[in-house]
Amino acid sequence: MVQTVRGMRVLLPDEARRWQHVEATVRGVLARYAYEEVRLPLIEFTELFSRGVGEATDIIEKEMYAFRDRDGDSIALRPEGTAGCVRALNEAGLLYNQTQRVWYEGPMFRYERPQRGRYRQFSQIGAEAFGFAGPDVDAELILIARDCWRALGVEGLTTLELNTLGSRESRLSYRAALVEYLTPFEAELDEDSRRRLGTNPLRILDSKEASTQDILADAPRLPDYVDAEARAHFDALQQLLDAAGVPYVLNAGLVRGLDYYTHTVFEWTTPHIGSQAAICAGGRYDGLVETLGGRPTPAAGFGLGIDRAVLLHEHANVDWSRPNTHVYVCVQDVRLSAYAQSVAAAVRDALPECGVRVHMGGGKLKNQFKRADASGASWAVIIGEQEAETGRVALKALRDASVGQLDLNVEQLVERLREE
Ligand code: ATP
Ligand code: MG
Repeated sequence: MVQTVRGMRVLLPDEARRWQHVEATVRGVLARYAYEEVRLPLIEFTELFSRGVGEATDIIEKEMYAFRDRDGDSIALRPEGTAGCVRALNEAGLLYNQTQRVWYEGPMFRYERPQRGRYRQFSQIGAEAFGFAGPDVDAELILIARDCWRALGVEGLTTLELNTLGSRESRLSYRAALVEYLTPFEAELDEDSRRRLGTNPLRILDSKEASTQDILADAPRLPDYVDAEARAHFDALQQLLDAAGVPYVLNAGLVRGLDYYTHTVFEWTTPHIGSQAAICAGGRYDGLVETLGGRPTPAAGFGLGIDRAVLLHEHANVDWSRPNTHVYVCVQDVRLSAYAQSVAAAVRDALPECGVRVHMGGGKLKNQFKRADASGASWAVIIGEQEAETGRVALKALRDASVGQLDLNVEQLVERLREE
């Protein structure tokens, strides 16, 4: 048998059911904040990402699924959603002189080393807000994520980390100071950090290498370079979060590498899903729209990793599941199929929330009951000769021995199921 491509995700029914719950919960929160969905392509020109994510990032340097199509164009499976979202809204003229609050969802692709919580195909729900320069929208995005954790029953298992990169000017002067400090240590840095010294020095703060972190211990600190305007933005954000009762931890080492990121950066982490602890990351990227060819537009957003949110939801072990087949229709003889289907159709029409699965392939009733049980259904509807002739059904509770078998007409069947 041909195998699954390494790092690609398969979600079997049990897992997919949990995913549906997590995704629907996050979508529900976004709807309550009146964010609107946009649906974006999975494939873009590679250039969109090299400009929109940045050449000197892990994503572009080593994680992109980029290839030539039959026309010779360089295209890529999207590694993230923000660049495509900005491109799409700008192309439609929706970023000029107006505000937008949107979200999107779907698979992203990065050529990484697969492990628990890190896959080559993974899913994000991203939220982006355009046209808002103030800290209130930063706070709103953080509150959306907090409400998602709350609605999923995992709020107490998450931590919000917060930092500011300052204004464009202040981060450029910090960048210069960091390079000046690190240059004498160049030979001692790990390979990635040495390369980044010339291309993307802020990202060195993110290094996982202990020796590099030792060198960084005495490095200039970003907060010392943040100018008064950026400080005021960050203070205001913290006041909004305090007022909303959202706890946070300031982490001066939290960065996004690229020049168009400014002001707020945040990350939600959890210690409960293994080494891949970040479940949501975001911040302000006031320079990106312009970098991609639009007019200067303040913007902020986040990407919430569904795969990791699902792992956390699993860990939290909260009560959520509802088996989605509620009724299993057993058919004593294949000749009664049409009647069985009509009963199923009547239940589906009257009770849209109720899943109805009709047995197929014949066989002894005893075996059909086994199938019914394995399907997770709570009720079996039994159709025999006599029922078909009289327009009735037998209803049997599969999970509650105290309920005897009932003889009902179709209307009564619907009423009895409605009670559940
Ligand atoms: P990491 O440090 O874990 O590589 P990142 O900085 O590359 O994360 P972002 O690009 O900010 O991640 O993506 C936002 C979120 O998407 C992450 O917080 C995480 O939850 C999720 N995510 C990113 N890469 C993966 C992956 N390979 N597999 C599963 N989830 C991922
Ligand atoms: Mg990554």
